Amino acid sequence: MIRKLLRKVFRRAASPINTEPALVPVTQHGIRREQISPAARKVCTVLQESGHKAFVVGGAVRDLLVGHPPKDYDVATSATPEDVRALFRRSRIIGRRFKIVHVMSGPETIEVSTFRASQSAEDTETDEHGRVLRDNVYGSQAEDATRRDFTVNALYYDPTTEHILDYHHGVADLKQKTLRIIGDPRARYREDPVRMLRGVRLGAKLGLALDPAARNPIREMAELLENVPAARLFDEMLKLLFSGYAVRCLKQLREEGLHHGLLPLLDVILEQPMGERFVWLSLENTDERVRADKPVSPGFLFATLLWHEVLANWETRRKDGEHTQPALFAAMDEVLDRQAGKLAITKRIVGDIKEIWALQPRFEKCTGKAPYRLIEQPRYRAAWDFLRLRAQSGEIDAALPDWWDRFAHAGHDAREALLAETPTAGESAERKRRRRRRKPSAATTEATASSNAS
Ligand code: ATP
Ligand code: MG
Repeated sequence: MIRKLLRKVFRRAASPINTEPALVPVTQHGIRREQISPAARKVCTVLQESGHKAFVVGGAVRDLLVGHPPKDYDVATSATPEDVRALFRRSRIIGRRFKIVHVMSGPETIEVSTFRASQSAEDTETDEHGRVLRDNVYGSQAEDATRRDFTVNALYYDPTTEHILDYHHGVADLKQKTLRIIGDPRARYREDPVRMLRGVRLGAKLGLALDPAARNPIREMAELLENVPAARLFDEMLKLLFSGYAVRCLKQLREEGLHHGLLPLLDVILEQPMGERFVWLSLENTDERVRADKPVSPGFLFATLLWHEVLANWETRRKDGEHTQPALFAAMDEVLDRQAGKLAITKRIVGDIKEIWALQPRFEKCTGKAPYRLIEQPRYRAAWDFLRLRAQSGEIDAALPDWWDRFAHAGHDAREALLAETPTAGESAERKRRRRRRKPSAATTEATASSNAS
């Protein structure tokens, strides 16, 4: 009880700008400078040698503290973007929501941002719901710490001294596995509703519990996400889907009430009338790949998310007498026209999705010269992965991807022998039994009929 009260008083005192950070030495936090990427270290050193303050900040420090390999590195500095640009030959200023500098070094890109003032200033420009529209006002390091979202994200690591400057007790929160917002959660969500999504994502990824004060208002404030530009939501959803913990994140989002019309992409995922098994398999598959550091592509994932809509549309057209191939292309266009705009899927991703879909009917032709041509396609591997996933979900016969796998890896004579057999003829009794046991649902049976008929 007393501890609760103390924490309350303490937190209230902690939310205004803390000018005196706790200095956490390496003996306490354990992060050695060698664990920091060479590029991030170099950026800090060059900036410091030119008389500026410079620290590794944000996700990388947080992730290292919990033993996660950082995805990328952010550096915060007292230097202006122009100062930074002048110090690094391979750098450019980019200005989306605010001006930051990308410094390229070897294969890495380090995001360097100038200390920024807190957003609660009265003259900050907001929309009618309180969402901050511009926050490019530079500030002190303490202000920079306060405008960050969670206490565990406001940690500044100095590779020179190996100290962490901790402005909001982030090290202690991380030890207690808590994700705590800096300041008043409601005000911070109003300033930027995307913080609700970030909270869910970071919690799921790092196994941290969202502090009740940050968690409770989400349900009632969720609709603020409607005012966030579609492109920003799309970026955030991509981060979530490729965090390596997409399945956990999505379940958590559903629990927090952050779906139903708010996030069009989430509706596509969670409200699948037909391809639910396929979509979740695909997400599990993506999680495994991300965690094993294998390449993943948004095109592939979106192709799986929207596939069952395409199948249904394709089937209707074929029933109406359209030819297989043109019917598929028309179905693809119709689904993408409806979804791509709503989800803000970029043109490049749309191109990738179409390539994967368009190759699917070509897997049905296992005779003549066609298979030789198909395996030479640049997108063959992605299309085959997609085919296998369809089989795993019970939509099609597993014998088909098996046949292609054997064909792709065989020598010339073995290929000719494979061309003489049909994929299902080579199916083992065991596989047949497994397939029968799987019993696809009515919807997938219908889908199978449509794709096998092509
Ligand atoms: P990851 O890179 O693993 O997704 P991250 O926390 O590093 O996580 P970034 O988007 O790279 O996320 O942001 C870097 C830092 O910038 C964060 O750690 C946080 O301090 C700050 N930040 C990012 N987004 C916001 C936001 N919406 N509101 C306040 N601070 C933010
Ligand atoms: Mg980051």
